[in-house]
Amino acid sequence: MKNDVFGQNTSLIHTDYEAPAGFVAFPDAIHHASTVVFKDLASMRARSWQNKDAYTYGLHGTPTSFSLEAQVAAIEGGKHCVLTPSGLAAISLVNMAFLKSGDDILVPDNAYGPNKEQGAWLQRSFGIQVRFYDPLIGAGISDLIQANTRLIWAEAPGSVTMEVPDIPAIVRAAHAKAVLVALDNTWSAGLAFKAFEHGIDISIQALTKYQSGGSDVLMGAVITKDAELNSKILDAHMRIGFGVGMDDVYLVLRGLPTLKMRFDAHDKAAREVATWLKTRPEIAQVLHPAWEDCPGHAHWKRDFSGAGGLFSVLFDAKLSEAQTDRFVESLKLFKIGFSWGGSHSLCVPYRIETMRNHWKGEGILVRFNIGLEDAQDLIADIAQALALMHPR
Ligand SMILES: *Cc1c(COP(=O)(O)O)cnc(C)c1O
Repeated sequence: MKNDVFGQNTSLIHTDYEAPAGFVAFPDAIHHASTVVFKDLASMRARSWQNKDAYTYGLHGTPTSFSLEAQVAAIEGGKHCVLTPSGLAAISLVNMAFLKSGDDILVPDNAYGPNKEQGAWLQRSFGIQVRFYDPLIGAGISDLIQANTRLIWAEAPGSVTMEVPDIPAIVRAAHAKAVLVALDNTWSAGLAFKAFEHGIDISIQALTKYQSGGSDVLMGAVITKDAELNSKILDAHMRIGFGVGMDDVYLVLRGLPTLKMRFDAHDKAAREVATWLKTRPEIAQVLHPAWEDCPGHAHWKRDFSGAGGLFSVLFDAKLSEAQTDRFVESLKLFKIGFSWGGSHSLCVPYRIETMRNHWKGEGILVRFNIGLEDAQDLIADIAQALALMHPR
């Protein structure tokens, strides 16, 4: 095409520059697209948005998102991955892909709050029965499975109260009755718990957390090993129209090479902080899966290879909420905020009795996300804030 035969507008749109082939660099290129151009009608007519060896439309992916999907699936030993605009959207996608009105699902009652709220909404508005179960129920879940039960959600551990479920026992009971098990595996980043080695059918990740690591991106992923399950997820993805922006995809890709090193650094610092907290009289219980006081610790020890930066503590019940609020607000390095997996330390207080039905006891729980600061500085910060809790 010769540019000089066209008017100014046409030549601005139909440029004839082609970059030379052979460019090699480490980063994935950022391929933006809504329209994908087919080379001829035959390839347009043969298109399938389920086929990840070819491209159909930006909503279904570009080389940038296909690359992230392949890498995220590989991290936890899956084969297929579908990206979603947030971690919560990954949960929605699984529910939409596998449920219809009249079905029943089981959700652990310590699950990520918005997952439970979505369950209540599915029940109110979509005729899906949702029941919440004790996360430590293990093989006993078999008794809860009904003829219309389609899906069991699990979260390992619950990301506030930290109970570690017996995933293999839940999976065995579910599979004996042909029920799917979906796991919110965000806490382990897919590194410390290999979902598919433990029989999980569908794993979801909030890539917002460790995979991004920057506290700047919202993204989710639905990962499977089974092609048929993946095909149902892709069907739902197509119908709902969950797309992701390629600049965001790039930001997550950029975090992946350091994922394991960051996760291990969070893990090491979190254990140092938790060890120190254990010595403090203000703390009744350290809810860190690597500690024996954490419900389900034996399951963590058997099934997990690490712990990352997220854990909670239960304050002595004699301390008032006003005192624990003062503690949280006196922290300087720890900021008040949701989410985790970034380099900044965070904390959030929760009233334990509002968290879940099966919890025995009361008091204030504070959840810590240990960032990448030096552990000794974080401990000193907590020490000065604890000192300010007590009336002078
Ligand atoms: C953050 C989080 C999600 C949701 O991720 P968003 O990207 O914030 O929507 C889901 N599950 C768990 C366990 C989470 O921590």
